[in-house]
Amino acid sequence: MSPYSDRTRLIASATRRGHGRRPVNPPVERASTMLSDRAEAMHDDADGPAYGLEGGSAARQLRAALAGLEKAADAVLVPSGLAAVTVPLLALTRPGDEVLTLDGVYGPTRRFLSRYQASRGVATRFLPAETDAESLIAAIGERTRVVLLESPASLTFQMIDVAAVAAACRARGVRTVMDNTWAAGLAFKPLTQGVDVSVQALTKYVGGHSDVLMGGVAANDPACLRAVHDVIEDLGWHVSPDDAWLALRGLRTLPLRYAEQGRSGLRVAEWLQGRPEVSRVLYPPLPGAVGHDLWARDFNGAASLMGVVMKGGDTAAGRAFLDALSLFGMGYSWGGFESLITHETHQMAYRSHPPSLEGELIRLHVGLEDPADLIADLERGLAAFSAALTLP
Ligand SMILES: *Cc1c(COP(=O)(O)O)cnc(C)c1O
Repeated sequence: MSPYSDRTRLIASATRRGHGRRPVNPPVERASTMLSDRAEAMHDDADGPAYGLEGGSAARQLRAALAGLEKAADAVLVPSGLAAVTVPLLALTRPGDEVLTLDGVYGPTRRFLSRYQASRGVATRFLPAETDAESLIAAIGERTRVVLLESPASLTFQMIDVAAVAAACRARGVRTVMDNTWAAGLAFKPLTQGVDVSVQALTKYVGGHSDVLMGGVAANDPACLRAVHDVIEDLGWHVSPDDAWLALRGLRTLPLRYAEQGRSGLRVAEWLQGRPEVSRVLYPPLPGAVGHDLWARDFNGAASLMGVVMKGGDTAAGRAFLDALSLFGMGYSWGGFESLITHETHQMAYRSHPPSLEGELIRLHVGLEDPADLIADLERGLAAFSAALTLP
């Protein structure tokens, strides 16, 4: 194990000795076909990848860096963050099995479980988003093969005691998969807490510049890794060398961007919490917020993605808030350099146990802009929200 911190290791892996004279960054090798010098070498695995599907230098370096970040024996790449969730679920379940998860799981993951997995004969039970570890463990059934965790949860940001769930699952022979996108592999290390497979959307903080879509799957257990690898091979997934190169470039500065955005996120969250238009800020790093105790116990950093529950309002008021902003882009995804905002109230209707919120639900991603400017922008948004409320 490397003695360095993540911040040093992600950079030092580019400058380490022993590779001859070379550019700092790997070349982008666009290749479907790899050539060998001798017939015998065509079958020699030590000679490097034999076919473009196996990935080139950038993909190899990215996999190694991701494995280091997640404390994994290996990490594999898939074409999107969603594929990073679906691949291990396909790998670890068979018809007749059940997946147990919580209502706060990422929306497209829910769709995959409810549609594709259901058509394969794999059932899913969605427990309420606020379910704690003890109740989740009590819900594990005869047919439960995989427990899928996401902590904090999407949109409502509940936290769960991951280590407690992982230990109970391991004792029962149930596999655990965690979507670790919020922690970016930095602020929380699921594999060190007993989780079998840690996945993340590299699209978010690792890419960091809103210019690439990719997913990473990391694990230690050889059987898990084998099963994940087989699904990727069987389905023919591939990540382009240009995309691998972009994700690797993003990874070098991940710790700095993540820390800075986390600081700004907390500042914005504290300001919002003090506003009369806001009922609650859903952001575990915020003292007093739901999930704060578990976040403080388990995490050593914070993403800058949060939910904001307004005091009342309706669709028109929510839209007036967004329309009044000039610095927050209206767009999905997050983890890039830029601030983004989405209006999410309607998403609660898709949940198996829809929560009753005091008002409109807004999701904010705080970027690398000056937080004082972002707060001034939000102040204009809140004024527009209030004006829309008081209209006759
Ligand atoms: C965005 C996201 C994904 C999916 O990533 P894509 O690259 O957009 O497919 C998965 N999980 C979480 C928690 C996400 O926010």
